[in-house]
Amino acid sequence: MHLVVDEMLVRERKEWTAWFDEVVDLEGDGTWAARGCGELKLAVDAARVQVRGSVTADIPRECDCCLAHFLHTVGAKVAEVCLMGEAESGDAAWDEDNEVWRVGLGGRVDVTEMVRQAILLALPTRGVCGDDCPRARELDTTQHEAQVDPRWAGLTQLQRMGEDDGRPEA
Ligand SMILES: [Zn+2]
Repeated sequence: MHLVVDEMLVRERKEWTAWFDEVVDLEGDGTWAARGCGELKLAVDAARVQVRGSVTADIPRECDCCLAHFLHTVGAKVAEVCLMGEAESGDAAWDEDNEVWRVGLGGRVDVTEMVRQAILLALPTRGVCGDDCPRARELDTTQHEAQVDPRWAGLTQLQRMGEDDGRPEA
């Protein structure tokens, strides 16, 4: 989705909503894409364009535990400001120093790029295919068992027996 600055500036309504529904090329090389959908609130005044909203995307990835492919559903918040400047054309560029987008009066705001970055930021580094992942369950059990120091295992058992004292059997 692109917003053309020229067109936005002559709009009657300076605030409006747009439905985003696009396949987003996550790495820019066509190898990893996800469809993102969501409502965006757009606002424009003489100095800037604001893009806000949330987008949901089902991102294909590999399970960290069992290596199965699955879709990781991610909700990404978009909150971007793009300042308008000199009369350059071309797409808005990210100004790293000031952490803001900049676009010329003859340019375009690349909303898809904003959404792409928001989705990648929202994607957790670890991904497990689901609660019933066979391998994740296995790992959990192993870790849990490993956490109990064998030297204390006997004591834990004694404590449990002590707690049971004097209570009627259920
Ligand atoms: Zn898995």
